[in-house]
Amino acid sequence: MSECDCCLHCGACCRGLLIEAYRLDVLREPRLLNAPPNNDSLTLEDLKDDDKCIILALPCTFLGPDNLCSIYPTRPNICVGFEADGEHCRQVRQEQGGDGGQQVKDERR
Ligand code: SF4
Ligand code: SF4
Repeated sequence: MSECDCCLHCGACCRGLLIEAYRLDVLREPRLLNAPPNNDSLTLEDLKDDDKCIILALPCTFLGPDNLCSIYPTRPNICVGFEADGEHCRQVRQEQGGDGGQQVKDERR
C-alpha cells in the first residue's frame, strides 16, 4: 500500500502479496517481530544478517477491516515503495477479484 488516495478502499496488495521486513523495518516498527508467522522466532539480532527477513502473514496482520494499514506511518519499506496503479498493483487487484486497475482510475475522478 502506497500513498495514493485510491488505496483507501482497496488493500489488495496487503491481502495478496508476501511482505518482507528487514532489520531497518523492525527498528522502525518493533511489532513486526511478534506478528505471525514469525511470532518472535527471528529476533532483531538474527536480522543483522542482511539476507534474513521476516515474512508477514497473508493477508497482512496489520491490515484493518477498513482496508487501512494500522501501522501506516511505520510500515515496511517494501510497502512504502509499492507503486499504486503500477503493473504489480493492477495485477494483484485482478488476482484479488478486482478490476485490474480500472477502479483506480475511477476512484481518481
Ligand atoms: S493494490 Fe494498488 S490500489 Fe490497492 S492498496 Fe495496493 S497499491 Fe493501493
Ligand atoms: S504493513 Fe500495512 S501496507 Fe504493508 S502489507 Fe501490511 S497492511 Fe499493507
